[in-house]
Amino acid sequence: MIAAKQKLIVTELEEGTGASIAVALDNDGLRSAMRIWFADLEERHGPVASIRPHGLKGHRVQLSFGNYSGDTIRQIQQASEEDVQLARALVASIDPSVSLVFGARSLEDWLVLDGNFLIDATIRHEISADEDDSVSRSCREVIVPLMAAMAELIGYDVVQDEVPLDEPAFEGGLKPAVVNRRERNPRNRLLCIRLHGERCTACGLEPQGRYHAAGGIIEVHHLEPLASLSSSKPYDPATELVPLCPNCHRAVHTRRPVPWSIEELKQIMDEASGC
Ligand SMILES: [Zn+2]
Ligand SMILES: [Zn+2]
Repeated sequence: MIAAKQKLIVTELEEGTGASIAVALDNDGLRSAMRIWFADLEERHGPVASIRPHGLKGHRVQLSFGNYSGDTIRQIQQASEEDVQLARALVASIDPSVSLVFGARSLEDWLVLDGNFLIDATIRHEISADEDDSVSRSCREVIVPLMAAMAELIGYDVVQDEVPLDEPAFEGGLKPAVVNRRERNPRNRLLCIRLHGERCTACGLEPQGRYHAAGGIIEVHHLEPLASLSSSKPYDPATELVPLCPNCHRAVHTRRPVPWSIEELKQIMDEASGC
């Protein structure tokens, strides 16, 4: 029964999105559903996800907006191109085996235009939908990226632009503030880990394997494509973000303003170890 999974769902969603989450049980009919929303937005004023069993081994997840979401929708309509791109990339990172329907739009061009916005997802598991593992998987695979995408569009906990004082000014390319913001944005981190896992791209360390409970320390590095130095190629979070362990991340940023590339850092490490 989904009713017994309240705590599990809140934990998965809060860990996954970094936002505080509220839930309530929908008790219409035999198979109840859990509704999930951002606690500080209230259910009627923002996006609401619901999860219910679908067949014996599936879940159906829907994302819609509360009846009084006008202000939130207007806020979403002011989201920058980059926010929209990150939101779409988060949704696109959902496993292709999950069926996703966006009304008249597609995975590439969906937009929240009004309060009728609806995403409908169906996920199948190998085991019963009542198992904790199935509920966790539906949360991680579907609800977390959907709610994170909404949080990005709404502009939740906007990350402060923090420019280190000793950062030298440089011509062309991205300003350090932009790189910094991308690396600190929790949704960029979520997307990067969903796409690339938690293994350091430079040295191969997997902090979770080494430090277990204390291992959630992988960081996100923003690779600035050379092309962006001369042209204004749009930001692509899927290819420009890579996971690095804290050591390698510090190491690539020892060169300024342009950090060492991952290949250069690997070479330096090879030389240092005498390969
Ligand atoms: Zn590393
Ligand atoms: Zn970096």
